[in-house]
Amino acid sequence: MSRNYERPTVPKPYDFVPIAALVKRRTVGHERILGNDYASGRLTYELRVLTPVFVSSGSYALGEDVGYPDAPLVRACYRVDGIPAIPGSSLKGVVRSIAEAVSPSCVTVTRLDRRLVPHQPKRRDECRPEEACPGCSIFGRMGRMSKVFFGDARLVSGQTRLYHLPALYAPRAHRARATYQTKAGKFKGRKFYFHGRPREAPDQPPVEVIVPGSLVHGTINFENLSHAEMGLLFFALGLDGSFALKLGGGKPACLGSLQINPLRLELLNSDHFLSAEPPVETLEGDEMVAYVGEQMRAAVGAKMILKAQVEKLREILRYPNERECPVGMY
Ligand SMILES: [Zn+2]
Repeated sequence: MSRNYERPTVPKPYDFVPIAALVKRRTVGHERILGNDYASGRLTYELRVLTPVFVSSGSYALGEDVGYPDAPLVRACYRVDGIPAIPGSSLKGVVRSIAEAVSPSCVTVTRLDRRLVPHQPKRRDECRPEEACPGCSIFGRMGRMSKVFFGDARLVSGQTRLYHLPALYAPRAHRARATYQTKAGKFKGRKFYFHGRPREAPDQPPVEVIVPGSLVHGTINFENLSHAEMGLLFFALGLDGSFALKLGGGKPACLGSLQINPLRLELLNSDHFLSAEPPVETLEGDEMVAYVGEQMRAAVGAKMILKAQVEKLREILRYPNERECPVGMY
């Protein structure tokens, strides 16, 4: 009996959010003192780990050094001051990709030829500091500083364990073309992996993951966001509860599912640049939820959150999802 290694055993673990037409607008950055139309502050959040989360420290560790004396060598979890953590840059990347997908933003990450991506500007009229799409205005690009700053999020409850992550095979090049492009040759959209039920592959070397049920706390600082931009940021974080985030390694193997829970929102008064002791308004509980909802409605009103893209994103990132994840070729 011959075995066919090229045939995937399960459906593709991802789908695409179609790319919306790009809209650029005049934007403001750090350089101006702004009135009530713009807000600065800090969001403190909690992430609940739903499926094992693997963010590598980028190096191997001796098992005994990270608490696993039986394992000689381990791809260890990222740590801050010895505490397992999720790097702010990882969360920022995930949130940016969602914000770009549901808004009229340009495509900042693609390994494919830009000419195949729908609605993209020519190189010479790319987003600039004074005139940018929502994604570039909030997260920065081309010499423009980001208006949001993600700190590392540290484990506050829970633990890590060793996990045998399946070795997954990406589709071959000639197949990738059919996977990522339409018959007309255009890029299908922005790719997101489904949530699902992870399965271990006992024959694979272990990696260190943060286990489900763990809680991780972090903060995001923001400066000079319009209310619509704040609404887009809050939506992309998953604050409306309609989808779960997916972060780190092993996404096709159903790792990295996280649910966010906002804990506290501190807002600086609009004249904070002028006062020595900036007065801060702190929102929690129902008051915070109402404020977050208002900002999201402002984003929908300003067409910065688009209905068709949101519907597709929610369909892909819904949680829970009983899908089975691939363990080999997909
Ligand atoms: Zn842009």
